[in-house]
Amino acid sequence: MSDEVMQPQQLWTGRFYNDGINSHDGLFDKLREECGVFGVYGHSEAANLSYYGLHALQHRGQESAGICVANGTDFHYHRGMGLVKEVFNNDNLSTMIGSSAIAHVRYSTAGESKLANAQPLVFKYRGGDLAIATNGNLHNAGDIKAELESQGSIFQTTSDTEVIAHLIARSKHDDIVLAVKEALLRVEGAYAFLFQTKDKVIAARDPHGLRPFVMGRLGTAYLFASETCAFDAVGGTYYRDVEPGELLVLDGKNGLIEDRFSPIKQRAICAMEYIYFARPDSDIDAINIHSARKRMGRQLALESFVDADIVTGVPDSSISAAIGYAEQTGIPYELGLIKNRYTGRTFIQPSQELREQGVKMKLSAVRSIVAGKRVVMIDDSIVRGTTSLRIVNLLREAGATEVHVRISSPPFKNPCFYGIDTPDRKELIAAQKSIEEIRQAINADSLHFLSKDGLLASIGRPNVELNRGHCTACFDNSYPTRITEESSIGCGCD
Ligand code: SF4
Repeated sequence: MSDEVMQPQQLWTGRFYNDGINSHDGLFDKLREECGVFGVYGHSEAANLSYYGLHALQHRGQESAGICVANGTDFHYHRGMGLVKEVFNNDNLSTMIGSSAIAHVRYSTAGESKLANAQPLVFKYRGGDLAIATNGNLHNAGDIKAELESQGSIFQTTSDTEVIAHLIARSKHDDIVLAVKEALLRVEGAYAFLFQTKDKVIAARDPHGLRPFVMGRLGTAYLFASETCAFDAVGGTYYRDVEPGELLVLDGKNGLIEDRFSPIKQRAICAMEYIYFARPDSDIDAINIHSARKRMGRQLALESFVDADIVTGVPDSSISAAIGYAEQTGIPYELGLIKNRYTGRTFIQPSQELREQGVKMKLSAVRSIVAGKRVVMIDDSIVRGTTSLRIVNLLREAGATEVHVRISSPPFKNPCFYGIDTPDRKELIAAQKSIEEIRQAINADSLHFLSKDGLLASIGRPNVELNRGHCTACFDNSYPTRITEESSIGCGCD
């Protein structure tokens, strides 16, 4: 097992932020992506494939990255703070020789960002070495942790993942598959888990299928990923979804074993994956994300037509919906807003003045396109409202005569307990203000949100026979699992 060498970048424990605008970076008040997982079984280039797979999943987490490789007898792993390209290089990848790997990109929800929480987490227990990578949130992890601590367990991280490791280590079962099943039956929440021993990879998805989790093939090798775009990045192909409540085991003796730890419950894939989180080139439940977003834009146009000169989308995640809105209305789509892709990560700015500069550094309104125009501005969501106000003001400063804001999701009123970093309800503008009050707060000439029915119709109607349904709790307060006061908000990757 390799020791991780602390690089200078790994010692810094402040927060830093990704170079996109679709992140919770203090400048742009957007929801934060969760984490991304990637796995390989049965390929001699497992580490390199994981590296490319993580690149494709970078939008799901930019604060740390890690890969653990097994060669049948040992683990070799490396984790670090930063982007995938900053954590990995030829030197560390070339030492990671083995045919199975699990890998992870992560962000943190709390104020500190530290290497101890970077995944995959690696443990030694009586059964040997165990590595775990997860995307999601276990909302009863706090209760289980308190119970285990009262019985003498010591925790080294603040990660939910360590709770699962303790449950596995304390299991009465010596068999890792049985121990994993027993542990999963104790936890509640949303998750896509990858477990790795020296000769096995195990994949498990929560019984509601809240977080996306897919399986792919590359020749005779098996792949796992949070999104199908990671398979494209390594030349693999989508094979099937990891079904809710399913446990898939890969080992040299038995190949693929398709098992379950729980019956499937009412399927509730996160609707925000379609609206905002997933990459447009990914498919979830065989529905392409770009196509679903275009349908949302078309539906939004049917629900809220406004006479205007141009339609523009807030880059990047709202462009597909803006194209749909333009197609439906016949109003031309224009690049009224441009994202600067080369600003790099920025530290949070201390003063309001510098904060506004930071916004302008990352996003520009194109004066020659918007000046003198009535603009329909499409965005995917409004969280606190501060981002929308800034972007509307950018357009007005560039000469737009009217700015009509159209949001390709219903009002975001409730926090997420399933792995998405959301503020408290009191900070969510739609939970506190009427739509007219929000319109005034963001300085728009008009404002309309996509209806929930319109959203579901755009994604693809829930199908009871196929048990296809969506979580829409952040819009309608209808949580698919039991939520208690102890349920934690945020991502269990933390
Ligand atoms: S509450 Fe919202 S963000 Fe969270 S899983 Fe459900 S739909 Fe997704």
